[in-house]
Amino acid sequence: MISLVKAPDPRLRVQTKPVKKINPALKNTLKEMVKLTKTFKDPEGVGLASTQVGLDGRFFVAKDTKKFISVINPKIVSVGKRTKTYFEGCLSVPAMWGEVKRSLNIKVSYQDEEGNQKTIALKGVLAWIFQHEIDHLNGTLFSDRVLQQKGKFYKFTGKDKTGTDIFQEVTI
Ligand SMILES: [Zn+2]
Repeated sequence: MISLVKAPDPRLRVQTKPVKKINPALKNTLKEMVKLTKTFKDPEGVGLASTQVGLDGRFFVAKDTKKFISVINPKIVSVGKRTKTYFEGCLSVPAMWGEVKRSLNIKVSYQDEEGNQKTIALKGVLAWIFQHEIDHLNGTLFSDRVLQQKGKFYKFTGKDKTGTDIFQEVTI
């Protein structure tokens, strides 16, 4: 059984190691990670990295529109010049949100769970998820990026009568 690791657990700060062999145990772990991510509905879980379940291999799962994909040994090959500021959160840092500037387009290479080597160009939401998850594999949290970039932090404080999320700016 795997479970979610939350900040400030030091396991979120681990520098992960490349996966040498994609074996049935890893495939099972990836399946469990997708299952766990899907249990988060509000906010919706769109990605989960190994460090978030206390593991130290270079892999994560990410939601690609409707289905989840497994990403093993990812490497960012190139990043586009254009950036976008995302209102970003993380399952491991509950109720905290922040502004993070990331590349709008990236090219990334990785292996899928069958060991196929892929190189793909990503843009928008999926590019953003990949950058967030690859940060996790290097022990970096989105909150580090907010601090680096002197962005703003927000705390989720509840919902209003119409069910809209309410956020309050906070200083850390
Ligand atoms: Zn995260």
